[in-house]
Amino acid sequence: MEHLEPVSDMNRTNLYDYDRAALARLLAGWGFGDYYAGLLWRYLYRSAARNFEEMPDLHPDLRLLLSERAVLGTMHCILSQESKDGTRKILLSLTNGADGEQVETVLMPYRDRYTVCISTQAGCAMGCVFCATGQMGFVRNLSAGEIVAQVLFAIKLAQDVPDRRKLRNVVMMGMGEPLHNYAATMTAIRILTSDTGLAIAPRHITLSTVGLVPAIYRLAEEEIAVNLAVSLHGATDDERNALVPLGRRWSLDDLMSACRAYGEKRNRRIFFEWTLIDGKNDAPQQAHALGRLLKNIDAHVNLIPLNPTEEFGGDPSRREAIAQFKAILDRYGIPSTVRQRRGIDIDAGCGQLRRRSLERQGS
Ligand code: SF4
Repeated sequence: MEHLEPVSDMNRTNLYDYDRAALARLLAGWGFGDYYAGLLWRYLYRSAARNFEEMPDLHPDLRLLLSERAVLGTMHCILSQESKDGTRKILLSLTNGADGEQVETVLMPYRDRYTVCISTQAGCAMGCVFCATGQMGFVRNLSAGEIVAQVLFAIKLAQDVPDRRKLRNVVMMGMGEPLHNYAATMTAIRILTSDTGLAIAPRHITLSTVGLVPAIYRLAEEEIAVNLAVSLHGATDDERNALVPLGRRWSLDDLMSACRAYGEKRNRRIFFEWTLIDGKNDAPQQAHALGRLLKNIDAHVNLIPLNPTEEFGGDPSRREAIAQFKAILDRYGIPSTVRQRRGIDIDAGCGQLRRRSLERQGS
C-alpha cells in the first residue's frame, strides 16, 4: 500500500457527511469493497465509535487510510442551559470544524421519550421578524455531517440521563430553513433513517419549512417521506408577509397547493405552525381566515405562543385569546394543539442562545 502524506484536519473528509451509498463509493475508490463500508457504517452508527481505534475489525490498511484522510466530525458543547421543565438547550460547535461556527440543538423530554430539535444552517436567510435566528441573518449551510452530529450528540446526552427515555423524534425546526439547504438535509435524512444505522423512522422526523414552494414539490418526490410542518403565522398574504418576508415570493395560494400536493402524494397530514403574537395574529377574524384557508387540506395546527426576543417588540398571546383562537379552529373541524412553551425560563427560542454566546464574546 502506498504511503500517504499526512493532510491537515481541514482537508480530511468528515465520515458523517456520507450516506451509506456514498460511503461505499468512497471506500471503493480506496480499493475496499462494500463489506468494509457496511462494517464502518455500523461502527459509526450502531457502536457509536469515537475514533478509529474503536473499530478493531477494520482492515489495518483501511484504518491507516482513515486516520490519514478522514475524521469523525463530532460536536462539542460550548454552552448548555437546562430549564425547569427539563428542556436542555445546547450550543454546539464542530470539534473538527474549520470555522468554529456554532449551532443550537434542543433536547426536550416528554413522558416516555426525548425529542431533539436540530439546526440545518448557521443563521438563516428567511428573515422572519419575530425570530432571533432570522434577525442574525445567514451565515452558512451546515453539512450533512454537522446535521447528523447534533442527533448523535443528543442520543449520547439522552443515554447519560438516568431515566429510561430514549430519543425518538427528530424535528428540523432549529436554526435555518432546511429546504434552503436541501442536499445536505436530504443526505442527513438518509443517514438518520438508514435501517442498518440509526434507524429513526421517517414518521418520527419532521421537517419544518417557512414555505419554499418548489422545494416542497421536490420533497414530495423523494424516496423517504418525512412529516412536513409549514410555518404559516398569517392567513392572508398581507398579514403573513408582514411576519414572514418569504411570503412575498410565493403566495398563500401557491403554498397551499404545494402542501396539498405533498399531503396527497405522501398520504400525510400537514402540520401548520402558528406563532401566536398578542394583538398581531390572534384575533377571532384571523382564526376564521385560517379555518377557511385550511378547509380542503388534511391539516393539524400547532399554536405556539411567541417566545419573545429582544429585537422584536411582540408579546405572546394572552390565555383567553389562545383559547378563543383554538375554539374557532375547532368549529371548522381543524385539529389544533396549543404547544407548551418549552424552556421559557432559558433562551429556548431559536437563535437566542447563540446570540447570548456572541454577546459574551463581545462579537
Ligand atoms: S423562523 Fe425559521 S425560517 Fe424563519 S428566520 Fe427563524 S429559523 Fe429562519
